[in-house]
Amino acid sequence: MTPRPATFGDFRCAHCGGLVSSAHFVSGVHNRNHCPYCLWSRHLDLYSAGDRLSACKAPMQPVALTLKRRRDKYGLGRGELMLVHQCGGCGSLSINRIAADDDARTLLGIFSASAALPARTRDLVQAGGIELLGPGDLPLVQLRLFGQGAQVPIAQPA
Ligand SMILES: [Zn+2]
Ligand SMILES: [Zn+2]
Repeated sequence: MTPRPATFGDFRCAHCGGLVSSAHFVSGVHNRNHCPYCLWSRHLDLYSAGDRLSACKAPMQPVALTLKRRRDKYGLGRGELMLVHQCGGCGSLSINRIAADDDARTLLGIFSASAALPARTRDLVQAGGIELLGPGDLPLVQLRLFGQGAQVPIAQPA
């Protein structure tokens, strides 16, 4: 038995066509599964991150941001910022770690757009126990994406 490789090599993004490096030193994460430019992913994993067992393989759209649930004794529950993807093929949701080289402005754009998520998607997200971040979480999101003291203008919907 040979151990399963940690990554499946570099790949070309199915959405924007950008070349994505899966090298750990670039992304800071293992099992990179989304594009750092447009943040789209593909439905490759079935049971756990990186297993690549899904037969679906459809593109997954980044739809929202959430916070990783922390199970600590203080019950704070406000952990790492995470990206929520929805599969364009089967509709299933997944939560993914944000990589070091993910485009912060694109992430912020997803956060802004998630305020207008269709009710059906919103219900699905909530049914999955995922806490959607709302407009009130903007300072937190900016802090996590851009660091302390950053002032980033956010595009207001017309
Ligand atoms: Zn892309
Ligand atoms: Zn799917």
